[in-house]
Amino acid sequence: MDSRKRRKPKNKRPAATPQQRPRSRMIFDDVEVPQVVEPRPNCSICGQPIESIIEAISEPDGGLSHFDCVLERLREREHVQEPDSVSYVGHGNFAVVTKDEEGRYSIKYRIQYESNDDYANVKRQVEESKK
Ligand SMILES: [Zn+2]
Repeated sequence: MDSRKRRKPKNKRPAATPQQRPRSRMIFDDVEVPQVVEPRPNCSICGQPIESIIEAISEPDGGLSHFDCVLERLREREHVQEPDSVSYVGHGNFAVVTKDEEGRYSIKYRIQYESNDDYANVKRQVEESKK
């Protein structure tokens, strides 16, 4: 009775340290049992898990990528150099922006990245369901 009473569930639980691992992106040999319950998609550009869907961009093929990875990819693809830079301008669109001598940004051209097709399809279905 006594010995059983001592076995509290408190001791059964290993120290929960979900946040103790340093956030390293490129380490693969340090594989541990993930603490996250929900499955996380992998970035289609760098292959690393996407921690937050909010910071992910959907690819035309239906995959997901890190926001930062997309920025980097566009920067390379568009050969963007100082003082120009790539910015997200909303609704799945990026833009190459440039800065003038006074430090004001202006958009040189837009890059549509996330496909509007899905969005348009959903919208159309909603419209049609109203009829
Ligand atoms: Zn990535």
